[in-house]
Amino acid sequence: MKRRDFLKAATVGVGSIGYTGSSQALMREPLKMPPQAVGMLYDSTLCIGCKACMVACKQANEMPPEFAGTEQRLYDTPLDTSGSTLNVIKLYKDGTREIKDRAQDGYAFMKTHCLHCVDPSCVSACPVSAMTKDPLTGIVNHHADRCIGCRYCVAGCPFSIPKYEYHDAFGQIQKCQFCSHLQAQGKIPACCDVCPTGASLFGRMEDIQQEAKRRLQAKPGDTYSFARGMLGGDQPPHEAKIPVYQQSVYGEKELGGAQVIYLSAVPYDKLGLPTNVPDYAYAAITEGIQHTLYQWFALPFVLFTGLLAAVHKSTKEEREKDVSSTAYEEDAS
Ligand code: SF4
Ligand code: SF4
Ligand code: SF4
Repeated sequence: MKRRDFLKAATVGVGSIGYTGSSQALMREPLKMPPQAVGMLYDSTLCIGCKACMVACKQANEMPPEFAGTEQRLYDTPLDTSGSTLNVIKLYKDGTREIKDRAQDGYAFMKTHCLHCVDPSCVSACPVSAMTKDPLTGIVNHHADRCIGCRYCVAGCPFSIPKYEYHDAFGQIQKCQFCSHLQAQGKIPACCDVCPTGASLFGRMEDIQQEAKRRLQAKPGDTYSFARGMLGGDQPPHEAKIPVYQQSVYGEKELGGAQVIYLSAVPYDKLGLPTNVPDYAYAAITEGIQHTLYQWFALPFVLFTGLLAAVHKSTKEEREKDVSSTAYEEDAS
């Protein structure tokens, strides 16, 4: 390769670290949703902020209460996900906070936990495969026995979900594992099981996506039977009116898609979800760049090996020349 061609290619590689147009040229194939993926639909308009899901989550995962922002230690009051909290109901509020699900002078609820991304950056960032994505269900799990505590997954997650147990000398990473232990017993995630309105709804991803689309197509003001617990399960539905939804399903495409998807009446950025994001995962870009750089790292090795071979060959020829000239000199004497 000519020196100019090498420098040109190297510039493209380095420039792409800032996710420019050239970075997409280096992107690896985005991962796809597994065929038997399970997921959750969180419909913010149905959520009444009762926090039953937070309590159930703590019980199901045997986690202690947290006391933030209050002197009285009466209630579990976490402000965000943490080493002791995998699920938090947050409140969006504006102005006079008069009307639910209104952006101006209103309020809305938001459920914060792992989205079980289709192409998870936490899995890509983990150097020891302690974060894995199940090839069948798509659930993203953390394996404490493999974890070295480097916290790359914490930095890599675009939703700031995994948290480290800083309070513990032998702390671990904690995040929602979609109640895998309950699902293994044929149960559904605890937060969906207890939700009184169906705001957190569990199901097969394909069905969940169709249900979200059905709600968007329904006429605002019409009465609708909102499933509770598990889509197609045996809990009686919750009857309510169809609200005026934002006309998109969050998590369908954002950052490569997720297995926890959202519906809301207020814009998604008000709920703290990143909206100005590409429809592919950052992991697809960073892994693409890494692979390209590794290819380049191979080049010096090949050059060095070639150089060694050339030196060895030339030294051998010199040695043979020396030997034959010595023999000639001996003959001549
Ligand atoms: S249990 Fe359901 S309604 Fe209650 S806070 Fe959780 S998601 Fe909202
Ligand atoms: S939300 Fe964060 S922790 Fe959960 S799968 Fe996606 S990248 Fe991983
Ligand atoms: S799926 Fe389980 S771990 Fe995840 S938020 Fe719901 S109850 Fe908590």
